[in-house]
Amino acid sequence: MATSRRVARSNWATRDGRLPEGEVVVFDIDGVLADASARQHFLKGVRPDWDAFFERCNEDPLIEEAARLLHVIDDRYSIVLLTGRPVSVMDATIAWLGRYQLRWNLLIMRDYGDYAAARDFKAREIVGIREAGLVPVLAFEDDSRNVEMFQANGIPCVYMHSGYY
Ligand SMILES: [Mg+2]
Repeated sequence: MATSRRVARSNWATRDGRLPEGEVVVFDIDGVLADASARQHFLKGVRPDWDAFFERCNEDPLIEEAARLLHVIDDRYSIVLLTGRPVSVMDATIAWLGRYQLRWNLLIMRDYGDYAAARDFKAREIVGIREAGLVPVLAFEDDSRNVEMFQANGIPCVYMHSGYY
């Protein structure tokens, strides 16, 4: 696979080494494409174990409906995966995407040392996506706070229920 890391920004990866162009559809990963329910227990209690939570992301089952959705979107749109997962699990995430042969063009993850709230991280990345000349036309999210953030930034966003986020 011609996956290329660190194309435009340190926390970005492209599937084929080229940044996509034009209109893009944005997907969250956890709770939208990946069923992270079996990892949620690491976040319970007084001291959430974020390392254990993310380390096991490669074991997540696929959410079949969202995966099908990904593949029926017209080819004129590129797919951006915008996830709050840290870049430390970038390789594991790319391997997981490959295992299920999921369609994607640009993967954006949380950079080292970035502990901003997910909605702030994602709002910042939307600015970066637009600066790269891409036009987000639709998003899919399981966190209602992120849904509101996308809407506030002029991007229609479909809420998908996960029961966690
Ligand atoms: Mg999510």
